[in-house]
Amino acid sequence: MSSIRTDRARAALRDAGVAALMCGPGADLRYLTGYHALPLERMTLLVVTPDAEPFLVAPHLERPRAEAFTSGIELVTFGETDDPVALVSSRLGAVHAPIAVGDRLWAMFVLRLQAAFDRASFVPASTIMKVLRIRKDDAEIDALARSGAAADRVAALIAASSVAGKRERDVSRWISDALIAEGLEQVNFAIVAAGPNAASPHHEPGDRVIQAGDALVCDFGGTLDGYCSDITRTFHVGDPPHEFVQLFGVLHEAQEAGVNAVKPGVTAESVDAAAREVIAAAGYGEYFIHRTGHGIGLEEHEEPYIVAGNTEPLEPGMAFSVEPGIYIPGTFGARIEDIVVCTDGSGRRLNNASRDLKVIA
Ligand code: ZN
Ligand code: ZN
Ligand code: ZN
Repeated sequence: MSSIRTDRARAALRDAGVAALMCGPGADLRYLTGYHALPLERMTLLVVTPDAEPFLVAPHLERPRAEAFTSGIELVTFGETDDPVALVSSRLGAVHAPIAVGDRLWAMFVLRLQAAFDRASFVPASTIMKVLRIRKDDAEIDALARSGAAADRVAALIAASSVAGKRERDVSRWISDALIAEGLEQVNFAIVAAGPNAASPHHEPGDRVIQAGDALVCDFGGTLDGYCSDITRTFHVGDPPHEFVQLFGVLHEAQEAGVNAVKPGVTAESVDAAAREVIAAAGYGEYFIHRTGHGIGLEEHEEPYIVAGNTEPLEPGMAFSVEPGIYIPGTFGARIEDIVVCTDGSGRRLNNASRDLKVIA
């Protein structure tokens, strides 16, 4: 017996002329089976083919966890001295058509599979999985919304806190603890970037002591029921200078323009352009140094990417960030990020914490 999702994968394989889909631990496996497998040097591999029932190869000691998640899928376990790749190849026999392997399957497994299936060509599993995962169903959107709401509550806590005198790394840890307290099962990242560090989009929180006069960019998220949150809010510690207020006003307008551009049928790149045009028109174009957003789901970054060159039309159920930023090297920076889902009519924000410039102590 297989599930609706593995049935859809089988149909996609058949349409694409692909002989097998092989997914290791990660989002594809979790999407198809619910199994949140440990990434181990011992191989875990879901094998889906167009014409036979799917099966999951897993180390014998993982049987209790795997069984709990994979009801309906045949579980084939192997002992410590068995060769799991030989097990897969003995079940499939000779394969001449392409095999789709997980985009993030470790090279040590891919190389062994390539040796075992030496007549097959190999393609990334995203060629099959992208179409399945890019539009979220109602349950997935609900999980994204609850994950986002937990992040919103932490954003509100920061807005009500005082951070001057604390190190970035301590505020980052405090945000991580707060995310767990608000219901996330796991924290994926908690960027805290103060003063000139705010000009580095992926700054690693460090020993800098936050002080009055600092812009403060906080970008954080984690997972709830496997689904990710990702929010950025920018604060100012003490009264902001005029230049920062001006920059922030432009950014706020740009983020609004990006979100307002979301509706079915418009291209992903046009959402990027809508945000970017506002920033460029105000003279900050060269300081917006990244794409406007990324899809989100079981992974923090997935399709669709909101970037120039992506002419893919948006469809209801697609979920992604809208996160323009303006970064003045050596001085300060700001970013505003919400997760937005494309509905039948427009973009629905899954983050609703205040986006106004908040002055904190
Ligand atoms: Zn990022
Ligand atoms: Zn983010
Ligand atoms: Zn993001």
